[in-house]
Amino acid sequence: MGLSGTALAGSLALVVLGSGGPRPFGRGGSSYIVEVNGTPRILVDAGPGMFLRVGELNLNLDQVDTVLLTHLHIDHTGDLPGFFLARSLTVSGSSARFNVFGPAGGGLFPSTTRFLNLLFEKGGAWEYQKTFGADEEIHGVDLPTDLTSRESQLLYKDGLRITAIATHHDDCPSVAYRVDYQNESIAFSGDMDASALPNLIRLAKGCSLLVFHCAVLDPPNSPALLYTLHTAPKHIGEAARDAQVKFLLLSHTAPDVEGASRSVLESIKASYNGPVSFAHDKMRLPVTMAIK
Ligand SMILES: [Zn+2]
Repeated sequence: MGLSGTALAGSLALVVLGSGGPRPFGRGGSSYIVEVNGTPRILVDAGPGMFLRVGELNLNLDQVDTVLLTHLHIDHTGDLPGFFLARSLTVSGSSARFNVFGPAGGGLFPSTTRFLNLLFEKGGAWEYQKTFGADEEIHGVDLPTDLTSRESQLLYKDGLRITAIATHHDDCPSVAYRVDYQNESIAFSGDMDASALPNLIRLAKGCSLLVFHCAVLDPPNSPALLYTLHTAPKHIGEAARDAQVKFLLLSHTAPDVEGASRSVLESIKASYNGPVSFAHDKMRLPVTMAIK
């Protein structure tokens, strides 16, 4: 099965801009584009390296007006200013309005709306950005992060639906997303520990493609602390099985996971029978190809 190809009409495709995590070892930080009918429409996370990959792939961001942030760690948001810069310099109209979804605040982490204010609104670090190139309006939406809260529908327009559900990533408020279009769907786990798996399974039920962040090895092979942040391969496989997803793509790869990729896949395949693969930067995966 190929992992790249041209877009088919009426289809979703995933473009991986960053398949890595917080460590600098040659992969971009977490970032993805969702294409609808071959056109980039949604940005999921904006980790460091996103800006570079957009240029390398010569992606046209004109129609990207929705940003989904899984959480506000730097490896998922460090290039957010770069996204707005790239977008404002390529926008075909004179103004642009963005909806940026992300978790509500908690502990050391601001809410998504406060985060955006600190960056781009009056008195913010890059207030100038909103009038640089195109005039921009950046509208933030804070999503519930209590694991008991209901799934939120963020958008339902022209057959495109986006939903979110709370997850858990130690002390960092976090959410997972699902994008549906016609009969295809892509779900994004973001970073989450195993305590949030019931929510993730509910969100990803029957989806065409699940992008799961695989940043640890099965216990006890990663530091114990990391299991309060991330889900082990064994549990990723069980979740993919229980959610009956059609294709599992592993991303947010850490160096030790990359080095043990064979045993990671074996652990997942012990419970999940579907196709599973590792993401890499600049991979383009049409959903129709993934589910063949
Ligand atoms: Zn991360």
